[in-house]
Amino acid sequence: MKIGFIGIGIMGRPMAKNLLKAGYDLVVYDKVAKLDDVVAAGAKAGASNKDVAAQCEVVITMLPNSPHVKEAVLGENGVLEGAKPGTILVDMSSIAPGAAQEICKAAAEKGVVMLDAPVSGGEPKAIDGTLAVMVGGDAAAFDTVKPILEKMGSSVVRVGESGAGNVTKLANQIVVALNIAAVSEALVLATKAGVDPEAVFDAIKGGLAGSTVMNAKVPMMLARNFAPGFRIELHVKDLQNALDTAHALHVAVPLTASVMETMQAVTLDGHSTSDHSALVRYYEKLAQVEVRKQPA
Ligand code: NAD
Repeated sequence: MKIGFIGIGIMGRPMAKNLLKAGYDLVVYDKVAKLDDVVAAGAKAGASNKDVAAQCEVVITMLPNSPHVKEAVLGENGVLEGAKPGTILVDMSSIAPGAAQEICKAAAEKGVVMLDAPVSGGEPKAIDGTLAVMVGGDAAAFDTVKPILEKMGSSVVRVGESGAGNVTKLANQIVVALNIAAVSEALVLATKAGVDPEAVFDAIKGGLAGSTVMNAKVPMMLARNFAPGFRIELHVKDLQNALDTAHALHVAVPLTASVMETMQAVTLDGHSTSDHSALVRYYEKLAQVEVRKQPA
């Protein structure tokens, strides 16, 4: 089965490489990013989104947000211009659920089945093929592509119809954002109170407060390593999609709204392209301390 992979960024690059490792025949394309290493690993470079779709039975997209997926799929020289009826489009980007449903509908008019299949786990899990994949859309198409998704993720779950994958991802992003905020606030307090934040981390990570987010992000904070990973600007995008989705349903999401404001402040401070663990800087500024590894 020939697979197209569009969007060779922080996540798409290692995900595409895992499909190559698994022996799939891959055609790749990115509007901007270099493809050399993916081609060296065995992929063929496509000339456009349309060209990729024309060559493949399954097309995967891994792009920043709804407008990028709309452009790549519905736009000029886009996937739907090249795709044959029966093609399965798997959008693994995190986008607005409403946009996913809109694109799914447009795809269906061309005989293309679209699944929304966003992921959680970040770059490390993209590299080792252990992402969590949450899928919305047609059950038969899901069964067809599940073995492919399992080469990129250790958990692949169909959560409902079109858009449900992205609703699930918004839930995920709310939990991750609030977790980073809580960890930040807690470690800033410990630091200001004169207790080594690394010792606090070591003491509490095995208890009820421990989390995957804590284990991934606290070492970055302690090392003052805010290289992305997952950029603040992408988390702002996800929280905006969460707020829009919630408000369209008149659901109040006060905690999400609050952490969104803190992300605006770190954005204004020039950290939009830092990893989202840089949210700790907001709390540090309030308390005038830095959460960092103490000298031995
Ligand atoms: P990225 O910006 O590194 O990569 C996106 C790629 O898409 C870029 O290389 C860009 O050139 C390309 N692109 C944009 N528009 C295009 C178009 N029209 N046609 C072809 N290529 C196009 O982003 P990323 O970090 O890889 O994230 C991708 C998606 O995965 C986002 O929705 C993000 O929210 C989600 N995500 C990211 C992480 C993470 O840790 N980075 C984790 C989980 C989910």
